[in-house]
Amino acid sequence: MDIEAIKTQIDSEIQNINSPEELEDFRVRFLGRKGIIAQLTSTIPSLPQQERAAVGQDVNALKNKILSLINEKQKLITARPIQPAVTLCDISMPGIVQDLGHLHPITKVVDEICTIFNRMGFSVVEGPEIETEYNNFTGLNIPLEHPSRDVFDTFYLKLPRYPVIPLSRSTGKQANRQTGKLLLRSHTSPVQIRVMKSRKAPLAVVVPGRVYRPDAVDASHSFMFHQIEGFMVDKNIRFSDLKGVLEALAKAVFGKDIKMRFRPHFFPFTEPSAEVDISCIICQGKGCSVCGKKGWLEILGSGMIHPNVFKYVGYDAKKYTGFAFGLGIERIAMLKYGIDDIRLFFENDLRFLGQF
Ligand SMILES: [Zn+2]
Repeated sequence: MDIEAIKTQIDSEIQNINSPEELEDFRVRFLGRKGIIAQLTSTIPSLPQQERAAVGQDVNALKNKILSLINEKQKLITARPIQPAVTLCDISMPGIVQDLGHLHPITKVVDEICTIFNRMGFSVVEGPEIETEYNNFTGLNIPLEHPSRDVFDTFYLKLPRYPVIPLSRSTGKQANRQTGKLLLRSHTSPVQIRVMKSRKAPLAVVVPGRVYRPDAVDASHSFMFHQIEGFMVDKNIRFSDLKGVLEALAKAVFGKDIKMRFRPHFFPFTEPSAEVDISCIICQGKGCSVCGKKGWLEILGSGMIHPNVFKYVGYDAKKYTGFAFGLGIERIAMLKYGIDDIRLFFENDLRFLGQF
């Protein structure tokens, strides 16, 4: 083998090496056990005596040259800067849009109505969804024989077979033992009882919350829905105060041109009682399928708090008067947003929820 030719080959090959893998391949080919240097060395003993020393020196020099070339190349390859990560990111590409959540339409309507009442001086109070039969019915002057107390109209809860005696939070002593049935509240009105039992008049309170009734589910009924209860108690609260407050609410929610009417009705917990209609927001009172050709839409029930309710909570019915009303949130939201099926609120379909 011609050592000069090998030198030229090495010089050109080393130029083209760019990776540790290529360099290792190069090293094995020249310095490996069966590499070119090993082959050259193995030919030396067969050379004439006088040439051996010179050829041995040449091979050794070649080997050292290869070693130093490999060392230099090694340094070059490892010292090469790592490609900065920023070049992997094309800043001219459009970004990935983050999906933002938002409030549920029912929550929006609750917030809107509570804000309107809050501006009128009402405070917002919440109560438990599991109620006593007393707060849900008896304290609200709903007699035992009233159909709403029937098991077909209220979710009664099964009590454990042993007595559960809750500790009073304030004293740590045993509170009065729970008597009577527990139920899922069928309206938000029991919070009237809770508030009046724990606070003194004057009161102006609104109560948003979930209520439960064993209704078969269809486009306008659900076993769970939302109400807002409102009531005001003080000396000299009159029916005209109720009318003024409800008119302010209807105009704030549905617009200034809305008309209202009060129809006499019966509720056990108010006397006199009235159902309240607004002029149909779809047909402006001319008559359409939403209002059943009547031109009016029923939105809530209301009245002056019954003296018996004051008696149950220990208020002096001769000294105080008050009004109360309750409205269904889903009904308001359906009218406001033009939704025709109550089930849409609870199906969690993003195609529906994304529209609000
Ligand atoms: Zn109409």
